[in-house]
Amino acid sequence: MTVAVVLFTSDLRLHDHPPLRAALAAADEVVPLFVRDPAVHAAGFDAPNRSAFLADCLTDLDRALRERGGRLVVRGGPVAEVVSRVVTECGASEVHMAAGVTTHAHRRERRLRDALATCGAALHLHDAVITAVAPGALTPAGKDHYAVFTPYLRRWSQELLRQVLPAPRAVRVPDEVHGERLPSRDGLSGLSPDLPDGGETAGRARLSRWTRSSLAGYEDGHDDLAGDTTSRLSPYLHFGALSPVEVVQRARAHGGAGAEAFVRQVCWRDFHHQVLAARPDASVQEYRGHRDRWRTEANAADDIAAWREGRTGYPVVDAAMRQLAHEGWMHNRGRLLAAGFLTKTLYVDWRIGARHFLRLLVDGDIANNQLNWQWVAGTGTDTRPHRVLNPVRQGLRFDPTGAYVRRWVPELKNVDERLVHEPWRLPRAERAALDYPDPLMDLADGLARFKRARDRD
Ligand code: FAD
Repeated sequence: MTVAVVLFTSDLRLHDHPPLRAALAAADEVVPLFVRDPAVHAAGFDAPNRSAFLADCLTDLDRALRERGGRLVVRGGPVAEVVSRVVTECGASEVHMAAGVTTHAHRRERRLRDALATCGAALHLHDAVITAVAPGALTPAGKDHYAVFTPYLRRWSQELLRQVLPAPRAVRVPDEVHGERLPSRDGLSGLSPDLPDGGETAGRARLSRWTRSSLAGYEDGHDDLAGDTTSRLSPYLHFGALSPVEVVQRARAHGGAGAEAFVRQVCWRDFHHQVLAARPDASVQEYRGHRDRWRTEANAADDIAAWREGRTGYPVVDAAMRQLAHEGWMHNRGRLLAAGFLTKTLYVDWRIGARHFLRLLVDGDIANNQLNWQWVAGTGTDTRPHRVLNPVRQGLRFDPTGAYVRRWVPELKNVDERLVHEPWRLPRAERAALDYPDPLMDLADGLARFKRARDRD
């Protein structure tokens, strides 16, 4: 009887799973393994919202495996040690897993390969599992990654994606391998009240529903803050409960301008992953241009606290920050405005904002979060690094009736739509009656500060 191990990481699904298919083809029995890695906890990456979503994903994966005669084996400990122990217990000769992108993933792969060599097993890494196109598969002449999105999109769009693989019908797991109890949401504290359900089943249902209802209108509607018609697939993609290859193939099969605009966004995801794979230090170091004059907790503690709490006095920024706290998710336009305000108006170090987002986002992802923050802060891949998004003008444009602001900032629920983005222009008595702060900083002052600092750097 031959045995193979499949190590699940950011690919918590059965559909379109190349490592699982390869293991099933190679062996009579397979151990589907997930390791609770203490390094993730040590790095503070197991924020409550993501831990809850992860628990849902693991429960759902276990259920789907049981329907096929198998089960998920969950164990805790350093990955290389745990996997080697499982390999020894069941006599496996190969381990299959998705190739990772982050420094943490690369270290894990190195350690695992070394540890497996000592027990006579081979590690097989599979590309295009976590992204649609493998990082490093596309490179411009003489460079190791694309630093500009548009040429990357052009190449990426011509790339033939592999065929989507069906979920296996049956999985046989060796009897002698046991795991711990699955993690659950119970006992987790500090969760956002309106978190989505995690798991492949919920993700696939959302993908089908959303494709039918909103994909066609995506091009026109994706920036409408109140309309809220983007896919909200980001946490399912982050945990790999959905395959990016399948998401792209299904959108393309649907066709039309909406699908094209949506696939372009999924390409941004691959773009950031290939930047991070080539420049792992971009998760903390500035990718381009180094600004050492950012304000930090030492000299901007009150401003940072007001931003975190959604009390900056700029309604659309505050609405976005409160949506983040309540749902563990924020609309992309809101992310752009909240991040732009922190970095370009308050001139606060983007890492402080990125850390706060990672503490709450259910889709919090090193590649997407850190590199989007750098893009907004002007230290990343934006070809116009000095652009500034004015929260009043952006609010009037992307939330013209103020419905988004009223949904999240109830203090402003009775303010007329003409002034909901500029409540400081209300008559003095009406303004005084609102329990809502004055703007933290004049936008012109913030901009002037940004320009002065930029010119000095
Ligand atoms: P849709 O509009 O439906 O897009 C479909 C998918 O494309 C998304 O699910 C996502 O996987 C991908 N995508 C869309 N926009 C982007 C983008 N700009 N960059 C990379 N991928 C994109 N996304 C994360 O997944 N995790 C993060 O931690 C994260 N942090 C961000 C921080 C900042 C400051 C900014 C400006 C953006 C961040 N994004 C992040 C990107 C984007 O805001 C979210 O992916 C998107 O809002 C998720 O909603 P959706 O699934 O409805 O997206």
